[in-house]
Amino acid sequence: MFDIMDFSQGMTGDNGMELPTGGGPYIPDAGECMRCGMCVSSCPTFRLFQTEAETPRQRIRTISKVLVEDVAISEEEHEHLDNCLQCRACETACPSRMNYGTLFDQAREKLSQSVSRSWLAKLALFLIEHKRRRRLLLPLLSLYLRSGLRKPLRASGLLKKLKLASAENLLSEPALGGLAGIYPVGRRARRRGRVALFTGCLAEHFDRATQRAAIKLLNAIGYEVVVPENQGCCGAIHQHHGCSAQTLKDKNIAAFYELEVEAIIYVASGCGAMLSEYQGDDTETAGWFGRSLQDINQFLLAHWPDDLQLAASNLNVAVHEPCSQRNVLKNGQSVHALLRKIPGLNIEALPDNQLCCGAGGSYMLTHPDNAQQLRHAKRQAIEGSGADVVVSSNFSCAFYLNAERAETARKLVHPIRLLADRL
Ligand code: SF4
Ligand code: SF4
Repeated sequence: MFDIMDFSQGMTGDNGMELPTGGGPYIPDAGECMRCGMCVSSCPTFRLFQTEAETPRQRIRTISKVLVEDVAISEEEHEHLDNCLQCRACETACPSRMNYGTLFDQAREKLSQSVSRSWLAKLALFLIEHKRRRRLLLPLLSLYLRSGLRKPLRASGLLKKLKLASAENLLSEPALGGLAGIYPVGRRARRRGRVALFTGCLAEHFDRATQRAAIKLLNAIGYEVVVPENQGCCGAIHQHHGCSAQTLKDKNIAAFYELEVEAIIYVASGCGAMLSEYQGDDTETAGWFGRSLQDINQFLLAHWPDDLQLAASNLNVAVHEPCSQRNVLKNGQSVHALLRKIPGLNIEALPDNQLCCGAGGSYMLTHPDNAQQLRHAKRQAIEGSGADVVVSSNFSCAFYLNAERAETARKLVHPIRLLADRL
């Protein structure tokens, strides 16, 4: 099953290893892993547990049982598979270019047919899917956070009994209400076109400052911004849980397709990674969506007017590179290039950027112990960097790293917020 692949006609990859060639992208199936182990040290769960069972190599073996051999897997194998953060660092390290993310999603979908979900997971998926119902809950959340109920409720132990303690710890004040539908270009900029903004589900309420910064910058470089009300979650959380994200995909494609825009801009790299997979659906509208999709950092960089100057700053900035940006979108360098628009800024990559911060979509809620250990390691890297500001292009990473932090610890912000502040 795990035969060594024929590299006789291979080409050389970044790491000097030969890569298989052929027409179009090569996506090996789960049975084609060479078991070379080059992915092992890049895997955050191997870093935590130091056992073979927690390596990508072993997970691919398990996935092969599910997808290729069609045999039942043990509870332990299921648990080790479930511990995966889906950070896809193993893909970046793999000389065979194993498409681990796709294999994992396929296995998860197949296994999910025999797994019953907790009421909490079902509720979370329901709220992610239904925007109006989610919005109805936000004023209640805001009231709870301001009411002084938090302390006694935590002390009562009820949250722990209901398995809500980890989620409750992460809560922060949401933005109530939605963004406007259209943000026209102001009088001071020359109008160059019209783009649409993808706002996501949780980021829409918990990262409003970044979305406003995106609108401000896009307007400043001459683009009118449309925010379609009928857009929804990108579907990443559903896919990670082995549920179909097709309804969410179809809804988003339809919501944006009817607009006359030059680009669909996403701000959070986690959403961007999922949205970039829409074009895999072989339809004209999905193809259009894929071609129109643009990362905010890349779009601003590509369309920055020569005469737009930003105020200088002598801050030291460390750039956190989210897994979705590093291992899926592979566009992290655009953040460094964009930040160089601010004269005087000292920009460095955050040390140990290849290690996942633990957020992992909903992983911070489903595996709080593992996630917290990884977050602790990331926080040590942040504090050790000596940076004045740390930037991250993914809402989920910043949200998790900013939650429950010490008062003196640095807060992560999206890089575009630094630019918007210096307009
Ligand atoms: S690096 Fe790739 S081929 Fe090697 S063990 Fe890992 S997944 Fe398999
Ligand atoms: S996706 Fe991340 S956590 Fe999962 S096996 Fe690959 S490296 Fe490990």
